[in-house]
Amino acid sequence: MHSHDSSTTWRSNRTRSHALQQRAERFFPGGVNSPVRAFRAVGGAPPFIDRAEGAYLYDADGNRYIDYFGSWGPMILGHAFPPVVEAIERAARNSASFGASTAAEGDLAERINACYPAVEKMRFVSSGTEATMSAIRLARAATGRNIIVKFEGCYHGHADGLLVKAGSGVATFGIPGSAGVPEAVAHLTLALPYNDLSAVEAAFAAHPGAIAAVILEPVVGNAGCIPPAEGYLARLRAITRREGALLIVDEVMTGFRVALGGAVQLYRLVADRAPDLVTLGKIVGGGLPVGVFGGKRELMDLLAPLGPVYQAGTLSGNPLAMSAGLATITYLEENKDKVYPHLEATAKAAAEGVAAEAERASVPLTLNRVGSMWTWFFKPGPVRNYGEAAESDTAAFGRFHRAMLDRGVWLPPSQFEAAFLGFAHADEEVQATVAAARQAFAERAN
Ligand SMILES: *Cc1c(COP(=O)(O)O)cnc(C)c1O
Repeated sequence: MHSHDSSTTWRSNRTRSHALQQRAERFFPGGVNSPVRAFRAVGGAPPFIDRAEGAYLYDADGNRYIDYFGSWGPMILGHAFPPVVEAIERAARNSASFGASTAAEGDLAERINACYPAVEKMRFVSSGTEATMSAIRLARAATGRNIIVKFEGCYHGHADGLLVKAGSGVATFGIPGSAGVPEAVAHLTLALPYNDLSAVEAAFAAHPGAIAAVILEPVVGNAGCIPPAEGYLARLRAITRREGALLIVDEVMTGFRVALGGAVQLYRLVADRAPDLVTLGKIVGGGLPVGVFGGKRELMDLLAPLGPVYQAGTLSGNPLAMSAGLATITYLEENKDKVYPHLEATAKAAAEGVAAEAERASVPLTLNRVGSMWTWFFKPGPVRNYGEAAESDTAAFGRFHRAMLDRGVWLPPSQFEAAFLGFAHADEEVQATVAAARQAFAERAN
């Protein structure tokens, strides 16, 4: 290696990860239990993780990486954050599950309601997929309508009706939806371009009285990071209200991420602009499997046992998951004036620092960022919707990803996934990341 900065020029040995991948491929399709983990979009072999602490991941061969995907969002406080670890240990000593009610569910619900006043009542589930799937069922029951409007590039989990033009993993693999989804189900989903209100008006005009709900990521993360245009969310609220359709804001990724009260707080979707239903996941479980759907009391009371909409879960409100979520949300609330400004400053430095290196190396790159979630799109020009994101040079992104991984920086392994950082990332990690990017772009030029 001909470089001035030897600390970031190592090539990692991944012999043991390679062997573990071979075994995994015997048992799991693609060797993985969730497709994007297989690194097919960027090439190269995925390292197997042994442990993680703060901002760092350590793989099975002892290599260390600065983590920029945070378990796809949940690890906002950093890995093995002591208050979270202690809460899980304490809960585990009292048994991992009861299948009966606990105080912890109410404790976490109180904190969620305090951060999200729009979530008057809620249900805990075990994944974001379950949360959005249940919210859709509720919206259909409440309105007596069947059609769901979603937006191209938005991902709301892998339920049948929501896999139409669903960004991230789906976009990465070039699958236009998924095999195995009946047309009869897919036909009830209208996928419209994001940030385009005229498309929404046209859909309501074409299907009068038939659209149950509009569901969206208030900041898209699953096509890469795409912020909502000025006034877009407020107008969607006004249109859905006028048309008697529900607005479901899917904050599984953005919840507690872009602000303590998520995008609902950041974009002031409060009072008469409040969404009917909100879905949460990822951060709300502190790294354990938790999803939430909630909103207006009268809607939520349609659920069994009070109402006719069935929804249930053996492990819903699991005490370990509740304890991890409660420790995470409590810390975020009590330290919000410290945590969120730190996330903003470090994310800005990392995202803009790398973008500046790209510019210096004449690599066309567009940076979209909202707080501590962002994407470097390998293309010139703005990215306001999935179509513009899809113009990115994914091969160039793949080379960048591999070059960064070889220098100990683990970016999300797809052009269409948002990068995150957490409270444990500091100036040292940012500087190392920018230095690695400088080398990666230089290597590409040579
Ligand atoms: C991750 C995600 C989901 C799905 O959550 P899972 O826990 O993976 O099922 C749904 N919506 C959004 C916006 C997400 O980012």
